[in-house]
Amino acid sequence: MKYSIAVIKGDGIGPEITEAAIEVLNAVGLKFGHEFAYSYPLMGGAAIDATGVPLPDETVSICKAADAVLLGAVGGPKWDALPGDKRPEKGLLGIRSALGLYANLRPALLYPELSAASPLRTDISSAGIDLIVVRELIGGIYFGDRGSRQGRYGEEAFDTESYSAFEVERIAKVAFDLARKRRGKVTSVDKANVLDSSRLWRATVASVAKQYPDITLENMFVDNCAMQLVKNPAQFDVLLTSNMFGDILSDEAAMITGSIGLLPSSSVGEKYALYEPIHGSAPDIAGTDTADPIATILSASMLLSMSLHLSEEAAAVDNAIKKVLSEGWRTPDICGEGCKKVGCRLMGKLIAERL
Ligand code: NAD
Repeated sequence: MKYSIAVIKGDGIGPEITEAAIEVLNAVGLKFGHEFAYSYPLMGGAAIDATGVPLPDETVSICKAADAVLLGAVGGPKWDALPGDKRPEKGLLGIRSALGLYANLRPALLYPELSAASPLRTDISSAGIDLIVVRELIGGIYFGDRGSRQGRYGEEAFDTESYSAFEVERIAKVAFDLARKRRGKVTSVDKANVLDSSRLWRATVASVAKQYPDITLENMFVDNCAMQLVKNPAQFDVLLTSNMFGDILSDEAAMITGSIGLLPSSSVGEKYALYEPIHGSAPDIAGTDTADPIATILSASMLLSMSLHLSEEAAAVDNAIKKVLSEGWRTPDICGEGCKKVGCRLMGKLIAERL
């Protein structure tokens, strides 16, 4: 079969990690007899440099026409001084919104081979980590009213957290449906002791839960959740969160599995889907061939199974990653004593070869 994939390389380590993922996808194509046709639309800093805007219209059209979108990461210090609506990250929010990607799924899995890379005590990590953050992606404070004004103490700025019952219901259903395919538990994260938007969140999730009597629903305040993630992550199955809480908690979930370089994500809506690692463009290591490409390769694996319905191919990629890790190959972020240290490019090549 022939499939079209729009690859947004982005900035910083984006080009390095997406190239590694393409090497693996090409190996999948060879092994299983598929043809992947890539297009490379611009977004973020690279798009600002080339066109003056972080999300050219052409990029949205190319992404809509493709079977799926793979994204590296955007942003970097070069563009940090630009005003908010001209920054690279605006491209990211823009593409999520333009494609209607309201659900961001972020699985966090601790590979037994990498338990030594987890910063958790072994009595905690040995219980395992296998959770998925279901994050609302196109609402909440990142999209709410914002601005600056003169206030009581002079200049002040504000951002607004606001959710409609519809938006909460839509993302809650994704979480409950996923829990049915997993271990049957949803932990809904909020700050309902303080925020009105969280109180609506909690009430709406409770009403959706009535349609899922087979699923256990638990509510947890976000501050407690941040603590529980390092104290007892094995308790979590599906974590349902707002946009900002999910952004923060999934970085924490990533770190306890060993490295932020290991966690993939898929962002899905009614019609389109985009796959990307959860980390950013890591400008501090860009161009050094030391980035971990596994999160991006796992994102490509999610793309294969979720958008192209190639589950056997996706499983082959996941197994190739496990094989490479069990052989001791590591990028610097997860390299402990006695590991075989490799760069981003070679890690991609090794995974492609193990297919
Ligand atoms: P970051 O995730 O880029 O980096 C945080 C730390 O993790 C850095 O030390 C980095 O070297 C390390 N790291 C990240 N990915 C890694 C990988 N694959 N392998 C090894 N180490 C890795 O977060 P940041 O430093 O807060 O942000 C840098 C830039 O990325 C900013 O411009 C930010 O706005 C942008 N950003 C983009 C996205 C996105 O495109 N989805 C997400 C988050 C941040």
